[in-house]
Amino acid sequence: MKDEQKKKITEMRRQGRGYAEIADVVKLPQGTVKSFCWRNQIANANLTDKTKPSKNGCRNCGCQLEKKADAPPRKFCSDQCRSEWWSKNRKPNSSAVCTCCHKEFSYYGKTVRKYCSHDCFIKDRFGGTS
Ligand SMILES: [Zn+2]
Ligand SMILES: [Zn+2]
Repeated sequence: MKDEQKKKITEMRRQGRGYAEIADVVKLPQGTVKSFCWRNQIANANLTDKTKPSKNGCRNCGCQLEKKADAPPRKFCSDQCRSEWWSKNRKPNSSAVCTCCHKEFSYYGKTVRKYCSHDCFIKDRFGGTS
């Protein structure tokens, strides 16, 4: 194993990445990565150290988030990433029929939704003259 790979493994592991992902990046078998981490006691930062800055990465795309001292920590870099992540990780518990395109759609949340998408909302509201 090259020093370069060791460094990369350590770095990624500290960021809370999975073995499979790391193995893919350093092009080593997953088992090698795993035993290297165990031998060197490189723990998943997300489990052991909650103060590590890598926790500030966007949960959806993993990009680094700016941290403002007076603001609560953000979990996503953008609203788009937030909704993408939730739609992937949360099961919808509501469904409705879109007022605009009359398609049935499902979503998560308690609020009543009339439109399947923002596009439909705009279309119905402004008659497509956006
Ligand atoms: Zn993001
Ligand atoms: Zn619609």
